Amino acid sequence: NAVVREKNGNRIMVFVRVRPLAKKEKEAGSRCCVKIVDSSHIYMTEFTTPNDYLRLKRIRGGHFTFDACFSDSASQQEVYSTSTSELVEAVMQGKNGTVFCYDATGAGKTYTMLGTVENPGVMVLAIKDLFSKIRIRSYDGNHVVHLSYLEVYNETVRDLISPGRPLVLREDKQGIVAAGLTQYRAYSTDEVMALLQQGNRNRTTEPTRANETSSRSHAVLQVVVEYRVRDAAMNIIHGVGKLSLIDLAGSERALATDQRTLRSLEGANINRSLLALSSCINALVEGKKHIPYRNSKLTQLLKDSLGGTCNTVMIANISPSILSFGETQNTLHWADRAKEI
Ligand code: ADP
Ligand code: MG
Repeated sequence: NAVVREKNGNRIMVFVRVRPLAKKEKEAGSRCCVKIVDSSHIYMTEFTTPNDYLRLKRIRGGHFTFDACFSDSASQQEVYSTSTSELVEAVMQGKNGTVFCYDATGAGKTYTMLGTVENPGVMVLAIKDLFSKIRIRSYDGNHVVHLSYLEVYNETVRDLISPGRPLVLREDKQGIVAAGLTQYRAYSTDEVMALLQQGNRNRTTEPTRANETSSRSHAVLQVVVEYRVRDAAMNIIHGVGKLSLIDLAGSERALATDQRTLRSLEGANINRSLLALSSCINALVEGKKHIPYRNSKLTQLLKDSLGGTCNTVMIANISPSILSFGETQNTLHWADRAKEI
């Protein structure tokens, strides 16, 4: 694996996080079907359901190994430190990176990326860490942090900081940019938290049958760090790094959760971005020269942050409940494949 990583010049780290059993799942008397064996090893029990024939890919339970596996008692800080802190360090040295969570609705993506006010998630912890690192190093240079926060909903890009008309993606010499997107100069963590909270209120959320409060949009927080530091010979070095932190919409098939036309259309578009993301990951796994970034808004936005020399972190969120056996199976299988990049 290490050899492959070196050859392609890119790196994807894959993590699994199991959330606690939800109240509803407990009330349904639902058993757990996964077990964290050790810090990098997860076991899924064998299970067959009567409607198993509906599934295209049948994979048995079994053992999976990842860069790390987080149990339901892992803290937000632990998840952040193990998965993402390395990327924050790299961004300060001009390297781009992407962090996203993947799974069906209700598995814990938003909890992991955004978290709650009491237990902030990866987005907030990354910014906090970034500012504290900048404070420590301010004696040898100058770091400027700009943030943007947008959502991709129905293949439409919207600014979450100052909502308005849909934004057009344009390619310029810096790469793909969303024309008119607010680039907010940030100075402190508190300010960023307020900004994220305000942004989340602007997010398009619609109830679905799978999860009433689930979001059907992808939210993308991009943190651009520009620095000017002096090296040992007192030469000025200038660089820019970008970290993309993404709260994806659920990966479940929209048609299976709701039959109404609008929802189906939304589902198709949500799936367009998710499918495109999977295709890009697959192409990277296979070491292809052509990566199909152009297939969706989400992947266009990530063109300079996925693959190449970028760092990528994927956190597969799963429910421990046997009620989610099928989704968990798919997620672990997909995550296992992504590991091969
Ligand atoms: P998703 O974004 O994948 O649809 P959510 O993040 O909204 O899922 O999680 C569904 C529910 O489970 C939420 O109420 C959330 O607070 C809770 N939850 C998810 N992960 C955890 C966790 N690790 N610890 C405690 N509660 C969690
Ligand atoms: Mg969510």
